[in-house]
Amino acid sequence: MDIYVRASWLLIAALISVLFAPRIQDVAPGLGGLAYVAGLAFAVLLYLSVLLHELSHALAAKGFGMPVRSVTLHFLGGVTEIEGEPPTPWREFVVAVVGPLTSLALGGLAYLAIDPAPEGLLTFVVEGLAIANIVVGVLNLVPGLPLDGGRVLRAVVWWLTRRPHFATTVAGWSGRVVAILALVTPMLLGAFTSIEPHLFDYFLAGVIGLFLWEGASQALLGAKIRRKLPGLHARTIARRAIGVERDLPLAEAMRRAEAEQAGGIVVLETDGTPSGVVVESAVSATPEERRPWVNVGAVSRPVKPGLLLEADLSGEALLLAMQATPSSEYVLVEPDGQIYGVLATADVDAAFAAV
Ligand SMILES: [Zn+2]
Repeated sequence: MDIYVRASWLLIAALISVLFAPRIQDVAPGLGGLAYVAGLAFAVLLYLSVLLHELSHALAAKGFGMPVRSVTLHFLGGVTEIEGEPPTPWREFVVAVVGPLTSLALGGLAYLAIDPAPEGLLTFVVEGLAIANIVVGVLNLVPGLPLDGGRVLRAVVWWLTRRPHFATTVAGWSGRVVAILALVTPMLLGAFTSIEPHLFDYFLAGVIGLFLWEGASQALLGAKIRRKLPGLHARTIARRAIGVERDLPLAEAMRRAEAEQAGGIVVLETDGTPSGVVVESAVSATPEERRPWVNVGAVSRPVKPGLLLEADLSGEALLLAMQATPSSEYVLVEPDGQIYGVLATADVDAAFAAV
């Protein structure tokens, strides 16, 4: 599992340092310019708690045997990338809820440490950590995607209705409502309370609202895609393929393919195992008059293990297999090793658009 820190994080860390330095100078007047360093250290502590939040998602997923790709910290917090979707509502619920619970627990611990901490800088830091973690924990429980609470809502609707895609749609739309609420909160506060929102509040609400709207829309799009996925079968999308030897002239290979109405050409070793697959773009880049003089091997890509796919793959498993080894062509094989045909990525895209 990889852990990344986006450059945008530095910007916010610097902002936190600048915003908090004057308050740090208040509680620890002896620090002088070091207050900025203390502010930066405070920012690092804040992001360490975000990291713990994300790691709890990652560990829960790993505990269920789901591969975790990466944990990334960015300016608005963090994101844990888990491969595939949790297979049951219960797993979805647990993986989602441990994050906010971790933040609330960290906030609670920091809160308990406020009194015993010596007056001054340490109290300030502990207090800040308590408030920040409790706010992160509570806000993340708001029930709308892409927030953790949205995934909790999705798990509950999924469990109640047994319809995972419907549950995503509900949580996605709920996320859009939350996004709009985030956007208009400063206006509502200004209109109905005595609080006077600053320009910065409008800006912050705008950034957060857009971020949430984007995330919710992406979740809705994902649900739409997943609904269509079961209709994708490698076997029905594949082109018939002919097998030829590596040093056959391309023109002759194309003539044979046309005669057999095959849309793919696979390079075979003398023992019949596939060692290459002809790349369509390389063929079209070869002028017609050159084709009698070019070997099939010269316009083919070597078949690595990832380019050999089972002919029975379908749906999400098919897409995951293609993602693992990106290529424009794959060779489909039967369980006994026989070649079934060539799967072109362009054909999968077209089939997907047509479902
Ligand atoms: Zn989370």
